[in-house]
Amino acid sequence: MILDKAKPYPGSREFSFPATCGVIEPNFTEKILRGKPQRDSFGTTMPNKHRRTKIVATMGPSFDREGAVESLYHAGVDVFRANFSHGSHADHARRIQKIRQLSEANHREVAIFADLQGPKIRIARFKNNFVKLNAGDEFILDANLGVDEGDEKSVGLDYKELPQDLSKGDKLLLDDGRIVMVVRKILASKIFCIVEVGGKLSNNKGINRLGGGLSAKALTEKDKEDLKFATTLGVDYFAISFPRDAVDIEYAKYLIKEAGSTAGVIAKIERAEAVEPNNLDEIIKASDAVMVARGDLGVEIGDAQLPAVQKRIIQRARALDKPVITATQMMESMIHNQIPTRAEVFDVANAVLDNTDAVMLSAETATGDYPDMVVKAMSRICMGAEEQPEAYISGHRLESQFQKSDEAVAMATMYIANHANIRAIISLTESGSVPRWMSRIRTAIPIFALTRHLETERKMNLYRGVYPMHFDATQMAFKEIDKNVIAKLKGQGILKAQDIVIITKGDVIGVHGHTNSLKIHVVT
Ligand code: PGA
Ligand code: MN
Repeated sequence: MILDKAKPYPGSREFSFPATCGVIEPNFTEKILRGKPQRDSFGTTMPNKHRRTKIVATMGPSFDREGAVESLYHAGVDVFRANFSHGSHADHARRIQKIRQLSEANHREVAIFADLQGPKIRIARFKNNFVKLNAGDEFILDANLGVDEGDEKSVGLDYKELPQDLSKGDKLLLDDGRIVMVVRKILASKIFCIVEVGGKLSNNKGINRLGGGLSAKALTEKDKEDLKFATTLGVDYFAISFPRDAVDIEYAKYLIKEAGSTAGVIAKIERAEAVEPNNLDEIIKASDAVMVARGDLGVEIGDAQLPAVQKRIIQRARALDKPVITATQMMESMIHNQIPTRAEVFDVANAVLDNTDAVMLSAETATGDYPDMVVKAMSRICMGAEEQPEAYISGHRLESQFQKSDEAVAMATMYIANHANIRAIISLTESGSVPRWMSRIRTAIPIFALTRHLETERKMNLYRGVYPMHFDATQMAFKEIDKNVIAKLKGQGILKAQDIVIITKGDVIGVHGHTNSLKIHVVT
């Protein structure tokens, strides 16, 4: 077997996947988009795309329009987010059920996560729904005021401990920083403020303290109820809002387990204290994935710090072998417009070049006017960015020591794949760990992750460059496995004769942590 190649890595156009679509038949996406997925003899279809960066779409009222969920699913959304800050349990249940039905009918699984609201600190409501504040005005946040009693002078608070958490001189940012107040004094339940930046302040808007440090626990009673409910819906991950440290994540994991769920935990990094270097690493290690939650984080640390912190969170997550989502306002103008601003194009592309696993849409898909157009635009931008060499040339981990044989096999696979004429990587996996390790290393080569477990198949939708598929290797003789794997991928038009692939698996099939071999295989 000769492994040399016409054009050496990293510059090879042949592997500048997805630019030339060398691996996956170019019109495959078309086929799926036209609603005719080809089911192979093993019962699954090829994922309907060749984009490596994953797209998360938040569910909301837009999903209830006729045909909306179908068009989002077919536009290639990989992960759906149920945002428990909004909507009723019935809303979430109905939308999730619809997505699972679509996955079943189209033989392509997606991941779904429940995003728990957490201790977002909010003002209560105004008698007239909103007030106008001017710079220099006095305004009182009063923990003892009735929930509907707000007026020009004062408003109530949902978090009654706020007065104890603040001191004179603190800067408060309301409504994602649109309104700014400075604390002048605190008397019992009342926080006396001077408005620094005025504007319209309406019901239930959020409050952040510049610099962070509010003591509210990450999981509220509402979150615990929502967690139990979402468990009955079979979600794949829970996103935890405002975790302060790894202890909050451990507590969430305990609650998830106690509820009888096997879902993973996504830590939303959105407090100033969560990005302190040691704390950040501990939070990432305790979690299954993290989110750069730029909305609240930007308010707590100030917008000037945000780009550098986004890069650092993504870099730390990848170094610690965890997937990472970049979130909030990525395509904001497309809530009402049909094309993104140039700034949004650059933001999405830059997140891809920062090596994020996934980019997230919030109101753009939840309440926006053009949800499927946003997904298509975002997808196009991701694929354009993925053509840049920074997106697929790895300079990674030359000095690292491997702890486990399966991790070593994953790394060796990536080294070979990036330096030889390899068409595709195929990983037979139980838990998804090997494809997850592989996807930490930059490459342009697709990683097909074959598993018999539905949960693993769904969860792996978050990992950059990983295409999950159903395949049950326990149903065949050991020596037949490679042949059947190849037949499956050939049958879907992904591989053809003479393609060279790497297959990883264990001698003991069906046991987690046993991957101990990689095989370089020529397709016949
Ligand atoms: P949220 O989280 O949309 O639930 O607030 C994301 C963020 O803060 O950016
Ligand atoms: Mn947030």
